[in-house]
Amino acid sequence: MSTKVPITMARGDGIGPEIMDVTLEVILAAGANIEIEEIEIGEKVYLRGISSGIEESSWDSLLKTKVFLKAPITTPQGGGFKSLNVTVRKTLGLYANIRPTLSYFPYVATKHPIMDVVIVRENEEDLYAGIEHRQTDEVYQTLKLISRPGTEKIVRYAFEYAKQYGRKKVTCFTKDNIMKLTDGLFHKVFDEIAAEYPDIENEHWIVDIGAAKLADTPEIFDVIVLPNLYGDILSDVAAQIAGSVGLAGSSNIGDHGAMFEAIHGSAPRRAGMNMANPSGLLLGAIMMLNHIGQSDIAEKVHNAWLRTIEDGVHTYDIFKEGISKEKVGTKEFAQAIIARIGQQPVHFKPVVYTANDRQEIKSRPLVRRTYKKQTIGVDVFVMWKGTPSELGDKIKGFGNDHYSFRVISNRGQKVYPNGRPETFITDHSRCRFLVNDGQSNPEMSHNEIIELLQKYSNDGIDFIKIENLCTFDGEKGFTVIQGE
Ligand code: NAD
Repeated sequence: MSTKVPITMARGDGIGPEIMDVTLEVILAAGANIEIEEIEIGEKVYLRGISSGIEESSWDSLLKTKVFLKAPITTPQGGGFKSLNVTVRKTLGLYANIRPTLSYFPYVATKHPIMDVVIVRENEEDLYAGIEHRQTDEVYQTLKLISRPGTEKIVRYAFEYAKQYGRKKVTCFTKDNIMKLTDGLFHKVFDEIAAEYPDIENEHWIVDIGAAKLADTPEIFDVIVLPNLYGDILSDVAAQIAGSVGLAGSSNIGDHGAMFEAIHGSAPRRAGMNMANPSGLLLGAIMMLNHIGQSDIAEKVHNAWLRTIEDGVHTYDIFKEGISKEKVGTKEFAQAIIARIGQQPVHFKPVVYTANDRQEIKSRPLVRRTYKKQTIGVDVFVMWKGTPSELGDKIKGFGNDHYSFRVISNRGQKVYPNGRPETFITDHSRCRFLVNDGQSNPEMSHNEIIELLQKYSNDGIDFIKIENLCTFDGEKGFTVIQGE
């Protein structure tokens, strides 16, 4: 027998240990050739005062094996705890989160008998950067970061995935009618990369109507690629409408490692009751077996699992009178799968894993461009309790021959000059300054910005941050203020 493949494993919290124990039991019974290194993560680690939820020493195992089978964890309530998932994904550069969702009609109740959607969620960027600030008494901010290389990697992954698995179409969801720069970039990169794959159909939907369509007619989708937050939400929606969140597994793939898990959480209310459905984690483990080159074992486990589902042996979450035959607990469900190892499903199409499943989808070296960047102005954000006119009257003279004050906005809407009294005002204002037209030097220097801030300080106006207004190869890198 060939050498065992080392993997790192964590039992997690809540229902985690129960579903992990049976998952391991099933894959080992099918012949998984793995050497398991266990690490501790989650609640206990957090409560020892480690805000990341993972001990430094556990990284040694992860960085060595580069394969992580992880049960869900509980993030304790209250501030100060960083999401362990986000930390692991970012530290190992696991940029692609693959979440296949299928319906198992007629054996698992669903309104959508035909559903086979693979969600490819960007895993490192977007609102999950976790960069948040309270800026004024009234206003809080989170930064949404979308990068071109990050987007290129995930979009290419989606198309390569579609190619490798014979999928026909890749759909992109964004909200670029509102977020023209961030989601706009995601959409633009999608169009650029889609053009390199003429054999695969491509389309873009605005995320709101796209989500509605996904919930209503999932059969029209195949592979969907989307930014982090939309992907997080919609993969849960997809799994739930397919039958149960308990039925979906996922992989997190990067160039330096991979993590496999269920998409659901630790369901603490069900912990220790031998009730939880281990299918999500088991399907994650099947993806792991493929990833480490044990596709024959992955196939065996997957087919035994399908057979169990169609035989009507169901945990409480998918049990339905008239459809299911036997309501079982976590352990009994696992025993039923083990008893079927070597059998094929009769109703469902047996899963066949080919060499493709052993082949990793590698990201390509990125071509990183440099642009001619020019700072042509600055937005100065302030906490201001007075009226927009009072602020405007104070700052309108802060410019000079080279640059001048243009407009104040409040939560994105112009409020000075010529604001409307109906517009709701908070204590968070943005004051825009731009270099004057026709200047021989079109750039606003750092010194000019510092001098401008000095004027704010001299007048006792509480500036809270600035954003430079830049062009890149002459193209504006900022949006126009509504009403500007
Ligand atoms: P959850 O997914 O844990 O549970 C929501 C509900 O879904 C449960 O009450 C249960 O009814 C059902 N459910 C989930 N998994 C099931 C399974 N395997 N079998 C049967 N039913 C199942 O979501 P939550 O309650 O919002 O979160 C609980 C904890 O999990 C939180 O601390 C959260 O931070 C954490 N969480 C962890 C992960 C992860 O580790 N990957 C992901 C999501 C949430």
